[in-house]
Amino acid sequence: MSRTISAVCRNITPSATLRLNAIVNEKRAQGLDIIGMGAGEPDFPTPDAICAAAKQAIDAGKTKYTAASGVPELRKAVADHVNRLYGLSYQPSQVLVGTGAKQVLVEALVAILDPGDEVILPAPCWLSYPEMIRMAGGLPRVVLSTAADGFLPTAKALQDAVTPRTRAILINTPNNPTGAVWNEELLRAAGELAVQHDLYIISDEIYETLVFSGARHVPMASIGPEVFARTITISGWSKAYAMTGWRLGYALGAKDVIDAMGAYQSHATGNPNSIAQYAALEALTGDQRSVEDMRLAFERRRDLMLKLIGGIPGVSCAPPQGAFYVLMNIQNLVGKSYKGHEITNDDVFTELLLEHKLVSVVSGAPFYAPNCVRLSYAIADDKIVEAMRRIAEFVDELT
Ligand code: PMP
Ligand code: GLU
Repeated sequence: MSRTISAVCRNITPSATLRLNAIVNEKRAQGLDIIGMGAGEPDFPTPDAICAAAKQAIDAGKTKYTAASGVPELRKAVADHVNRLYGLSYQPSQVLVGTGAKQVLVEALVAILDPGDEVILPAPCWLSYPEMIRMAGGLPRVVLSTAADGFLPTAKALQDAVTPRTRAILINTPNNPTGAVWNEELLRAAGELAVQHDLYIISDEIYETLVFSGARHVPMASIGPEVFARTITISGWSKAYAMTGWRLGYALGAKDVIDAMGAYQSHATGNPNSIAQYAALEALTGDQRSVEDMRLAFERRRDLMLKLIGGIPGVSCAPPQGAFYVLMNIQNLVGKSYKGHEITNDDVFTELLLEHKLVSVVSGAPFYAPNCVRLSYAIADDKIVEAMRRIAEFVDELT
């Protein structure tokens, strides 16, 4: 038998955001002054009290294996946290703590999909979702929305995507890459659809704390008891507490699903990092002021981005209401050239911008947003101003 790579792995496209991060770091190591608007991670340091809790955990010897699904006090703290925030009532046994929202998302899909099952995927969406669905044996069924619709799908489009193979709908609010925030009416329509067709709902709410201009985050699980029972909510610490590198996330849901995800995790990775778990406990139970401070900074940066994008001829964007991304439409620039290189699509735009102006952005295509680029504004205000100055200069130099 020849040694070949499996069909599952042959078909995976590696994460473009993480690849871009690596390229940016390489270029920085060469001494180039790159401004990174690519991979989205808060530039803020993890708050001091959280770091101190991790140091204490090390000193207290909490450096051994823990329960595979997370230490009981952290599972309880997550349940208490969502109860305090949204009045939702979960038992600690309905909470799974894993190695990042990424891992628990894959586990949720593995727990509910059989080969060939379909997942309705409103898009533009985070580029990892279609890969994760395929890794779990499923098929993404993409429902596209446009800037003109505020990047929200219509209830009818969701309904039309249901087939006899549909098992789940995967939503993300606030959304990466559009910044769209689902309103209660749309959540209700998606929830009713799921009840009608007996579907799971996976609701990725990792950007839940980052909503702006009076927009409100409504958790899918709060829509009603029948929706609550079938919703697997995904969230974590990466965005709200600036803890991307600690690799911790959680899922909430029905006990049988959480148990199945936990069983998988117990073989795949075992427990998430013990020290990070104690840091995460402090994050949820300690002073929450830094969460609001960071939200305010992101809101200010979003306003700055909108003002600066508004000043660049030929590009446009729908104002995001949440997360820390702007999807900038570059359709009018396609067909123009930079120093003899034709911009045939968003990939080429991204490459030329990085090479000539040292600004990294992510092309829209893998997010199902062709002829757009995603800009992360999770960087300092002065860097935003300089990056947008370089982008404006680049656009101005197109012929
Ligand atoms: N969901 C979305 C929508 C994301 O953008 C990301 C990227 N950080 C994740 C999940 C994964 O987050 P984590 O760092 O917790 O794995
Ligand atoms: N989720 C962030 C992004 O979309 C971080 C990178 C990643 O994990 O994809 O940029």
